Amino acid sequence: MKPITFLVNDTFRKKTEPLVVPQRLLLGPGPSNAHPRILEALQNTLVGHLDPVFIEIMNEVQDLLRYTWQTSNLLTVPVSGTGSAAMEATLANAVEPGDKVLIGVNGYFGNRLVDMAGRYGADVETLRKPWGQVFGLEELDAALKKHQPAILALVHAETSTGACQPMEGVGELCRKYNCLLLLDTVTSLGGVPLFLDEWGVDLAYSGTQKCLSCPPGLAPFTMNERAIEKLNRRHGKVPNWYLDMSMVASYWGSERTYHHTAPISMNYALREALRLVAEEGLEARWTRHRKNAELFWEGIEALGLSCHVEEAYRLPSLTTVRVPKDVDAKSVSQRLLREYNIEMPGGLGELAGKVWRVGLMGYNSRPENVQTLLNALKNVL
Ligand SMILES: *Cc1c(COP(=O)(O)O)cnc(C)c1O
Repeated sequence: MKPITFLVNDTFRKKTEPLVVPQRLLLGPGPSNAHPRILEALQNTLVGHLDPVFIEIMNEVQDLLRYTWQTSNLLTVPVSGTGSAAMEATLANAVEPGDKVLIGVNGYFGNRLVDMAGRYGADVETLRKPWGQVFGLEELDAALKKHQPAILALVHAETSTGACQPMEGVGELCRKYNCLLLLDTVTSLGGVPLFLDEWGVDLAYSGTQKCLSCPPGLAPFTMNERAIEKLNRRHGKVPNWYLDMSMVASYWGSERTYHHTAPISMNYALREALRLVAEEGLEARWTRHRKNAELFWEGIEALGLSCHVEEAYRLPSLTTVRVPKDVDAKSVSQRLLREYNIEMPGGLGELAGKVWRVGLMGYNSRPENVQTLLNALKNVL
């Protein structure tokens, strides 16, 4: 027999060392450091995605997500992907071509919603505010009255600005104008008071790597009966196969039909992250985030710096700190990373060069981290 020979191109066959990653303190807009118990959960051996053990894990993840979001929505699942995947899932399922979608744009992620909604054929209208400000009920009322949209989309916690959109009364307005309320809760889930059902939110999404302190890779998604009704009334199929929630729901619901292979290990991690939320309790967790943020805000003022967002609308999970006139934002961020292993990046878009973004999220929301950052910042400045 002729010996088997292969013609292999070895150009990219690099010799690499075992992975060594520096111990960073991630105090930016996400990811935040993973809780040690979550990293431990990731080390568990794999089971199949239809194994009864995994199905029980799926049920627990769904219930714990409902608790964390304060919703009883049946369709509450982690989408396989990062926050943007669940963001896209809300629009892919709810938007039909030609639907009017009103989007509040007061930061980077409002613009991302505009881009995505347009790709699904929405007739997009925007309500704009300077970055760092929030929308009042009267302006929302006037815009809903003017545009009569099928969907109003807002960002609860704008990670690019540090502003928290007040939600009281918005759900009632949306019912008055017969439109769905879609909410980005990526930087609020597990860190900032959030009551989906009480607020009348019809569709929401989040991420795992912000206030849940889990690695990125899964994205919580939920929709209520009003949103499901709209999905069921669609004339055509959801234009995105992977994110079609009517199909994903039959894997996560009672039928358990295969759709795609769930990222098993990431679900172990999310389960542990949500267990930590349930152990601590939402009230205690929200209070902890608030207290550590206040500690940071006091420290910032003591350093002669100021916050970009008015205190009443400031997010506990993310603070934008104004860069003083004679300081180069980027070189401060670079020095913090290089000399102190602290990640604290600058602003985006309208706020580029004007602010730093400081995340005190989940496991990282601790007084010792606040002190470490303030000391380092003091030295660098
Ligand atoms: C991080 C973030 C997203 C996007 O999530 P990815 O996990 O980066 O895809 C969306 N909205 C907000 C408000 C965010 O902070």
